[in-house]
Amino acid sequence: MTTPFTATVLGSPRIGPNRELKKAVEAYWAGRTDADALAEVGAALRRQTWTELRDAGLDSIPINTFSYYDQMLDTAVMLGALPERVATITNGLDRYFAAARGTVSVTPLEMTKWFDTNYHYLVPEITPSTSFSLDASKVISELGEALELGVPARPVIIGPVTFLLLSKAVGSDAPLLDRIDELLPLYAELLGQLQSGGAEWVQIDEPALVADRTAGEIAVAKQVYDHLAAVPRRPAILVASYFGILGEALPALAATDVEGLAVDFVARADAPAAIPELARKHLVAGVVDGRNIWRTNLDQALTTLGTLVGSTGSLAVSTSCSLLHVPYTLDAEKNLDAALRSWLAFGSEKVQEVVTLATALTQGRETVEGCLAADRAARSTRATDPRLHDGTVRDRLESILASDPGRSPADQRRRAQTGLDLPLLPTTTIGSYPQTTEIRVARAALRKGEITEAEYLDRMRAEIADVVALQEELGIDVLVHGEPERNDMVQYFAEQLDGFFATSNGWVQSYGSRCVRPPILYGDVRRPAAMTVDWITYAQSLTNRPVKGMLTGPVTILAWSFVRDDQPLAESANQVALAIRDETVDLQGAGIRIVQVDEPALRELLPLRAAEQPAYLDWAVGSFRLSTSGVADSTQIHTHLCYSEFGEVIDAIANLDADVTSIEAARSHMEVLDDLNAVGFDLGVGPGVYDIHSPRVPNVEEIVTSLHEALKAVPAERLWVNPDCGLKTRGRTEVEASLRNMVDAAKRVRADL
Ligand code: GLN
Ligand code: ZN
Repeated sequence: MTTPFTATVLGSPRIGPNRELKKAVEAYWAGRTDADALAEVGAALRRQTWTELRDAGLDSIPINTFSYYDQMLDTAVMLGALPERVATITNGLDRYFAAARGTVSVTPLEMTKWFDTNYHYLVPEITPSTSFSLDASKVISELGEALELGVPARPVIIGPVTFLLLSKAVGSDAPLLDRIDELLPLYAELLGQLQSGGAEWVQIDEPALVADRTAGEIAVAKQVYDHLAAVPRRPAILVASYFGILGEALPALAATDVEGLAVDFVARADAPAAIPELARKHLVAGVVDGRNIWRTNLDQALTTLGTLVGSTGSLAVSTSCSLLHVPYTLDAEKNLDAALRSWLAFGSEKVQEVVTLATALTQGRETVEGCLAADRAARSTRATDPRLHDGTVRDRLESILASDPGRSPADQRRRAQTGLDLPLLPTTTIGSYPQTTEIRVARAALRKGEITEAEYLDRMRAEIADVVALQEELGIDVLVHGEPERNDMVQYFAEQLDGFFATSNGWVQSYGSRCVRPPILYGDVRRPAAMTVDWITYAQSLTNRPVKGMLTGPVTILAWSFVRDDQPLAESANQVALAIRDETVDLQGAGIRIVQVDEPALRELLPLRAAEQPAYLDWAVGSFRLSTSGVADSTQIHTHLCYSEFGEVIDAIANLDADVTSIEAARSHMEVLDDLNAVGFDLGVGPGVYDIHSPRVPNVEEIVTSLHEALKAVPAERLWVNPDCGLKTRGRTEVEASLRNMVDAAKRVRADL
């Protein structure tokens, strides 16, 4: 067998330590630079990534994890599976970006969450007429670049099983996995090309195997790797899984003749000793968490590795998944206190941990004793830091959990809320209004110290006054303040809550050129002061119509943060919920009669394995209810959900028990209402009547049609009228036109009732 390696990672971030790639692709899209300039930035970033990994001491380095946009899209290109509608675009790069982002005449591929992460991949569309063909030019040329630099390169490709399971079948109901025989010859040919290109190892990613899979699907995976292992001229094959345990798929893969398996030991250890076939395999043990930012417990990792040593053919240390999901390096964080810094590991620190662990394995534990001691010291300060154990917060939480009766029954609340005096089919929006250039300029100026805090407040108030005036003029019934002061709906709260740290450069790719800076939840959560009351009451002071207070819910705050690993997520959720609850009570005390608590990420955190889902939904719903049950019956609670197929969480949505739920529906044609009816939901609901993801202004007729459609499922007394999500990414003119049509449509339908 090819020489086994000892230390690696499963993939690297690619946006650049200072978001160089983001800037370069956006400049290309805007026509400010050409393809050569973009290619140059890409090549430089790849060189930098690979040489850093090599210099750190890894002896096998993943390549082809670079991408201008997304690895699933790259795979679709490699397999000749771009949709028909972009085929006429002759320039390859432009065709690629057209599939990713659309053009004036072409709709893009859909985007969806990559497993249970906050990364979004593009969903390839496979039709009966898709005729697969191999184009390995990207991976082959990156392999050439890497070998020329003397980098021990291991090309990474997405496996055929995962590719098909994650793609969308268009124009046929047959399972896409039935098409596997069309892909096998292409993957076999690819293996030959990689061998000729000089690759010793290839990593084939099959993360889809960590979700619940049928026996039939696992059998297909086994056949695939039996087949690929039998290809005569090929590199050694490492089948990589991550984000969970393989379960039944592990013995199936181990029974094939592939040389290596990468297994996620952070998610939970499979019991490799019990699988005799692993004795012949190179096991790549993911003991360093690739998707959270805590320092690895090195002693514990060495114990795990110790149990593996005798039972596998050979052993390498790795991250549990690609480092795509964490920021580049702690070095870029200047405002981090020493204690917190010592508890953390970002990308480059995780690479160091891998090397330390591999050194301990190959050269003996005593050679890394210094690192182990430093790790123990850091962990012991973390265990005793008072910020992690705030007795006041914990006692208060416990006593509320023990004594909170929850909200009154829904009809009692409905009666208490009649004072709001809303018409049938009340109109509203989801919260944000366009983030104008003025807003961004003001925020940047504040950050650079060019304007004072007071000046900034004035400018934001001017925005709020504008947005309130616009809504009054349009005749909207329940107003919002527009969220101009929020850069991000999670970061805004994290910055004000104790227990969170907001990084200054901790960027992580969310999709394409979009990057986010997830806050770090490290301690017990406390709300030192009200967070939104001044803004909302200012808006309310400008109008007689009700202004809706706008908060982010506990599940979404956790989903878009790096979370504590020293206590169950449910406990962290309740602490956040307590802070949000206090905010709802303060808003009510300040005269606000409607409060919306957004939970767009409810579906996102749903565990991949069905067996774990009920427990999750239980605490997720519980934390939402805790956050909203502190107010009087007369205060109307709204929530908002979007971004997903709601099928699996529809019961949970009903159980949130919000008085009004606005929900993305414009693209799923109101089906969500039938689903809600099926679970006995009988509260207020605002299915989005138009799609805010497109700049298109919907006309009155189509909104009327969609309201009539909604009225077939929901009585008028329960129906609300709103767009399907916040408006912050849209332009002011189109928003005004769209909302005007929305209000007209509501009036027209009301008149017929
Ligand atoms: N209130 C938020 C907004 O309107 C909700 C955003 C979201 O659903 N992601 O922007
Ligand atoms: Zn939304």
